[in-house]
Amino acid sequence: MNINNMNEFSGQCVVISGAGRGIGRAITQKLLDQGARVIALDLDIAPLQALQTHHVQQLYAAQVDVSDFDAVAQAVSKGSNEFGPADKLVCAAGILQMGTISELTPEQWTRTFSCNTNGVFNLCNIVSKQMQARGRGAIVNISSNAASTPRLAMGAYAASKAAVTQLSRCLGLELAQSGIRVNIVSPGSTDTPMQQAMWKTGSSAQTVINGSAEHYRLGIPLQKIATPDEIADAVLFLLSDRASHITMHDLRVDGGATLDQ
Ligand code: NAP
Repeated sequence: MNINNMNEFSGQCVVISGAGRGIGRAITQKLLDQGARVIALDLDIAPLQALQTHHVQQLYAAQVDVSDFDAVAQAVSKGSNEFGPADKLVCAAGILQMGTISELTPEQWTRTFSCNTNGVFNLCNIVSKQMQARGRGAIVNISSNAASTPRLAMGAYAASKAAVTQLSRCLGLELAQSGIRVNIVSPGSTDTPMQQAMWKTGSSAQTVINGSAEHYRLGIPLQKIATPDEIADAVLFLLSDRASHITMHDLRVDGGATLDQ
């Protein structure tokens, strides 16, 4: 059964970061399929331009580093000049720097927070002003199940995502009276280039599914790695009017891997 209303986002303007590949790409594709006009931001413009050839009237593509406040502001402003002010925002751009806290360099720590946390602040700061002026909007930030469950050699990533989760809850509280909802989707292991990079360095999809006592890691009760589409469906639900009374919620989409703790 297709649970999606095919025109649910018709005419709406959505800003999304990390739109070029992985989870952000899946969200972007679904939004385009459902009639949205998308202001798509990514470090790499090529995949966005390829998508644009099929959706000329619906996609504004911008090559932007989300950690650069002025560049984000300029891209959102230019995109809004074409597509109007943002009705929705999705922050999906993220990076993973592996290493224990004692192994990580200060540059790796800073790079992680610059993208994963500051990038979310930059977009929420800029786009929420457009939403406040109109008294409506919905924001979904992509965190991670690692925000609440410690993982070996993922300290910088997990801490940056914990900050995103709490930033989002506080923002939801601040914006509730303006009619703007802010929610979080926290994926577990999802089949994207970010996850596949980990499988090249020791683990594999099957070891993630099985879990590892040696790494203090439970397996995945639903016995599979998530697809990007499964994460995108959760994001589209929270963006949509079907979630009109949901805000400050952290929706875990990890097949039970963290026992929903
Ligand atoms: P991905 O495959 O690595 O895609 C991330 C996208 O973000 C890429 O297009 C990347 O551009 C872009 N990006 C990275 N840094 C950026 C920056 N500074 N400015 C603008 N764009 C930037 O990752 P993914 O797996 O789809 O992850 C999407 C989100 O889900 C991330 O926030 C991630 O932390 C989160 N997440 C993923 C998993 C998982 O297992 N995959 C689990 C939990 C949470 P380039 O291609 O140019 O690098």
